[in-house]
Amino acid sequence: MRIGAHVDSADPLTEATARAADTVQFFLSDPQGWKAPKPRADADWLRSAEVDIYVHAPYVINVATLNNRIRIPSRKLLLAHARAAAAVGARGLIVHGGHVSAGDDLATGFDNWRKAFEYAAESGGFGVPVLIENTAGGNNACARRLDALARLWDAIGDHEVGFCLDTCHAHAGGEELLGLVDRIKAITGRIDLVHANNSKGAFNSGQDRHDNLTGGTIDPEQVVTVIRAADAPVVVETPGGADGQAADITFLRDQLGVSVTNT
Ligand SMILES: [Zn+2]
Repeated sequence: MRIGAHVDSADPLTEATARAADTVQFFLSDPQGWKAPKPRADADWLRSAEVDIYVHAPYVINVATLNNRIRIPSRKLLLAHARAAAAVGARGLIVHGGHVSAGDDLATGFDNWRKAFEYAAESGGFGVPVLIENTAGGNNACARRLDALARLWDAIGDHEVGFCLDTCHAHAGGEELLGLVDRIKAITGRIDLVHANNSKGAFNSGQDRHDNLTGGTIDPEQVVTVIRAADAPVVVETPGGADGQAADITFLRDQLGVSVTNT
């Protein structure tokens, strides 16, 4: 089982070494910005690395919204990041499930997701698996609660789409971790990546505040149980820099009885 961390994008492979990580995730541009990613000078190096690479799309992307001035650029930016992720050999592009505004019909949000996949298909495809991640907050989210996730998958499940399960977001979003993997797989048929994070916010608080695995409001054993059941690669998105994340990775390897695969 491969375990790694979300790291700074400047030198991801050095960051991986600093954490003894098998896997790294990083952004290809400012996560709060709308700039298209630039080609990376280290693309060949990243593509040939032993370390598995995942790319996280900017947070500003919201392909579900009914607001044209957000939705249309979001579609384009998602495709641009997917192409850029493919160029560095990424195994997946993670994007948040998005939401509609208060008073807007969530059904239209799911249909907008379908249109985003159709737009990408008509444009030659994403070129990399797109993994939709569950989110922690909001009352109009496409992938906070599993009832919404089921409707999202009804809309897009015929396309090639994967799922990224964030344990902090699930807990803070109001989904019990106990049995969660089975409930998700009943909807999506798959979990492609686990974001293993503890939560500073309480259960169902709606707060997206990650904590180190042995801190926070989640029993760390529940995170380990989720990882075992998911049987997917793991990325910690926890605080504390290299030391804090290395401790989280070591904790998971000890609990799971796995050793580093990238030596
Ligand atoms: Zn996450």
